[in-house]
Amino acid sequence: MELPLTVDAVPLTITGRIDRIDRRGDACRILDYKTGAPHPPEQQHQRKEEWVQLQLPLYAVWYATTRGTSPSVGYFNIPDTRDNTGVVTAAWTADDFAAALAATHRAIRRMHAAEFPRTDRMATCAYCPYTRICQRPHVD
Ligand code: SF4
Repeated sequence: MELPLTVDAVPLTITGRIDRIDRRGDACRILDYKTGAPHPPEQQHQRKEEWVQLQLPLYAVWYATTRGTSPSVGYFNIPDTRDNTGVVTAAWTADDFAAALAATHRAIRRMHAAEFPRTDRMATCAYCPYTRICQRPHVD
């Protein structure tokens, strides 16, 4: 996936690799494979109505931009137990995708302004290879 954007007259391209695209007729569903405990896409992408991840909505924006129709997006969960294996799609609308794109523009502006605040999600830091660069104390 390559999604060209222009933010404050600066062109850039967001790239990503989509795990799976299902099509039937005009309908499309974009899925990301997930191992481990299953979580709803909304829970992974939003905290208190703020976008904290943008992967799936940006896939949707890319598809809508290139194909002219809005897909559904979600996870194909592949956890340890067979019972929880399956597809979970998000209930997002075109307005939600537009809000995610606006959040993307805001994030890019902050990067252009060299604003790189540390995340408050310490669980993320536990697996981050850049702790020495950002100088966050080691997290167990
Ligand atoms: S340790 Fe990694 S994830 Fe955590 S704030 Fe620093 S750069 Fe971000």
